[in-house]
Amino acid sequence: MSSIHEYVNQLRIIDGHEHLATPQIRKKENQDFFSLMHYLESDLITAGMARDALGRKAGSDEERAAAFLKHWERTRNTTYARMFRTAMEDLYGFQDWSVPGILAVNEKVKAATHDPNWYDKVLYEKSGIDLAFTLIQTTKLDYDRFRPIMFMDFTFKLRNRKDIRDVERNAGANVHTFSAYLDAVDALLHRFKTEGMVATKLGHAYWRSLASGKPTFQEAESVFNRLLGCTLEEGLSQSETESLQDYLIHFIIQRSAAYELPIQIHTGHHETSVSSNGNLIPNSNAALLLPLLAEYQDAKFVLLHCGFPYHETYLSIAKNYPNVYTDFTWTYIISPTAAKTILHQMIEMVPQTKIQGFGGDYNHVEGTYAHLKLARGIVADTLAEKIAEGALKEKDAMRFADRIFRENLIELYQLDL
Ligand SMILES: [Zn+2]
Repeated sequence: MSSIHEYVNQLRIIDGHEHLATPQIRKKENQDFFSLMHYLESDLITAGMARDALGRKAGSDEERAAAFLKHWERTRNTTYARMFRTAMEDLYGFQDWSVPGILAVNEKVKAATHDPNWYDKVLYEKSGIDLAFTLIQTTKLDYDRFRPIMFMDFTFKLRNRKDIRDVERNAGANVHTFSAYLDAVDALLHRFKTEGMVATKLGHAYWRSLASGKPTFQEAESVFNRLLGCTLEEGLSQSETESLQDYLIHFIIQRSAAYELPIQIHTGHHETSVSSNGNLIPNSNAALLLPLLAEYQDAKFVLLHCGFPYHETYLSIAKNYPNVYTDFTWTYIISPTAAKTILHQMIEMVPQTKIQGFGGDYNHVEGTYAHLKLARGIVADTLAEKIAEGALKEKDAMRFADRIFRENLIELYQLDL
């Protein structure tokens, strides 16, 4: 093993994006082997498995284990499957891929769920993570290695009266005018920030285009007033409400900048287990954000997932815009080969203070562990190749790793460690 591999392997990590439940929630849900599917489930579905085929209502543990094995066989080649295998082997010593083997390891996973030290063991000790940001739509995390990031989509995905009511309930305000609505959204952002939120998140690439126009207050207000006049059952279409959404996206960016909150935006690949293939992939091309990136030079945009499969455009944007930060969340497990190519190009193109090296993007710590193990290997391999080419000195490669796995996140999110 080269010294750059040894160096990268011992680095303490700040993890920039997860969907990890708190230990308390995991315990309450009594999570088991079948709770650890997450990304793997997407590949199982794409390989022909029915949605919810592994859910608790689908049958006995034995029946679900048999269903799992049948579909596992079809997709065991993918990196999502590889991550599952790594996690189960390394953390549970699992080797026996049979129905009795799964029933046995299922008991071990449930025991881990009820082990009060499991998160510390997996995240802190085995993964080397000091702090992780998690997006589970609450700021009450009850675990001192977590910091919250909140999806703001619920404040601008307004299609009916009920959507407005949800925001009113969250903000604890009654809204009768558009300007009062904007105040409520602003109050929410401010409250989340005081509750520890380190960034806002926009996930609209999953349900509309990233392209936003520049509607006037009056245009947005007239759509908003139409929504206020709707009954709870009726609503407006996506195209009828788009100008209101666009106005609110501008507003959330403005207020996030005012509160010094970086804005994480989903770009690129959609997950089928989340989206049901409900949006069109070209709607998530980072190039569609260009008018917003050009307008808000005072905001900090963290464009997630390296924009894959539009990463060439993404790299070009990141190279030119001082307010754009790159982020490898999720990328290594979509394709390790693509991640390595992107990293090679990024080292060549993008200043190292603008690169966020890791976010596991998992909803269970076992996945985070496996993903980070893979990520460290890819980053170290890439840096070793850059050193061999003579593009980087070893000392510079080590500094680069410090930056992308830790220091950049501490600076960008103003973390107080
Ligand atoms: Zn995510």
